[in-house]
Amino acid sequence: MEFINHIPRTKSEKLFKRAKKLFPGGVNSPVRAFKSVSGAPLFIKKGNGSRIWDEDGNVFIDFCGSWGPLILGHNNEEIQKAVIKAVRNGTSFGTPTKYGVEIGELIASNHRYIEKMRFVSSGTEAVMSAIRLARGFTGKDKIIKFEGCYHGHVDSLMVKAGSGLVTFGTSSSAGVTRSVAGDTIVVSLNDLHGLTTLLESHHQEIACLIIEPVPANNGLLWQDQNFLAWLRKLCDQYGVLLIFDEVISGFRVGFEGAAGYYSVAPDLITFGKIIGGGMPVGAYGGRADIMSMVAPDGPVYQAGTLSGNPVTLAAGIAALKQLLVPGFYESLNEKTAYLVSALNRIFLAKNVDMEAIHLGSIFWLKFSRGRIFTADQISSTSSQKFKIIHHELLQRGIYLGPSSYEVGFVSNSHTRQDLDVFIHAIDEIVNDFQSHFQ
Ligand SMILES: *Cc1c(COP(=O)(O)O)cnc(C)c1O
Repeated sequence: MEFINHIPRTKSEKLFKRAKKLFPGGVNSPVRAFKSVSGAPLFIKKGNGSRIWDEDGNVFIDFCGSWGPLILGHNNEEIQKAVIKAVRNGTSFGTPTKYGVEIGELIASNHRYIEKMRFVSSGTEAVMSAIRLARGFTGKDKIIKFEGCYHGHVDSLMVKAGSGLVTFGTSSSAGVTRSVAGDTIVVSLNDLHGLTTLLESHHQEIACLIIEPVPANNGLLWQDQNFLAWLRKLCDQYGVLLIFDEVISGFRVGFEGAAGYYSVAPDLITFGKIIGGGMPVGAYGGRADIMSMVAPDGPVYQAGTLSGNPVTLAAGIAALKQLLVPGFYESLNEKTAYLVSALNRIFLAKNVDMEAIHLGSIFWLKFSRGRIFTADQISSTSSQKFKIIHHELLQRGIYLGPSSYEVGFVSNSHTRQDLDVFIHAIDEIVNDFQSHFQ
């Protein structure tokens, strides 16, 4: 279908042309390229609170939030102050700093499942390190992941289910060797029976099981509490470590993330996104006895020139302190619930096959009704339908991540009015394109 553009994109288009000569697809991370929606990606110049401005001067209410880190909105005053204060003293020393102790204590004293931790520079790096640690600690080689969960671009996790009963993975990216993919076993979310059978027969080879406890990278596929609690039990029974990848859910669904939300104790947790207050970051942590296997205390090597960067940690401290203010998460969740229920009233009234869902301040627009648990239950026409929504929202000054598989985020800087603008826009779009969504 032909889209009518009301917003100027001339400058973004020109920049994109130059960028395409320099970067694969013109971008430094693939989903930024707007490939699954239409037009050139918007080149964003600045952000403040709930808003972002592009190079052409268009302003948008942003529900992408840099893909999750910005739970406090753009250009949060406390974070900005902390970063400027830190940067006045220099950007990196390659030594321990007071910031490290401060953020470590802040986390350890407010998160019941983190006794020790290590900071790294991205979520991917955190996951990669946690997997190595699990292998080092257990002395076993194979790992289990769930189809539909994303864990960054770690070789051993760029793996999808192959065929056969026990699905030793096949790589989902060129450049991942068969032997690496073969050490990863891929199972279905919400499938206790399959997993139990697998562990019964293969537990002697399996070091760990990694899961996004709130799967939020293929839409929002939250699982039941008893599924996660059962994973804990199975892992204990079979001497397998349980890793929660909370890069997206950590500090998002509560200060203690999904582990706290569901009261399920993982052995290790990986973080990223929010923990760095918008600066490049990752971290992993958990049980002290396991973390003590990491160098220089133990034999599992892991290092980083810019790890625990003082500017990043200053931003992280400033962010986390604001999250600890009583009532922070309650008000954020309430706002998101308001948004989602208003959208669902529209979908019902217009009788379209759409539903908004949320867990905490993570929300997702889906093009089917009813609970789904696995990625293969996502309607195959979602991308086409989302393209309309995405484009029409842009025309109305609302920015969502450019893919139907991406969730949206509400930040504490979104006002009730911001949400009402979103709700009104969806109402118009569903009205104008009703037949496309039925
Ligand atoms: C974003 C994300 C990652 C990867 O983090 P990067 O900082 O992009 O490397 C890993 N796991 C989950 C669950 C994520 O959402």
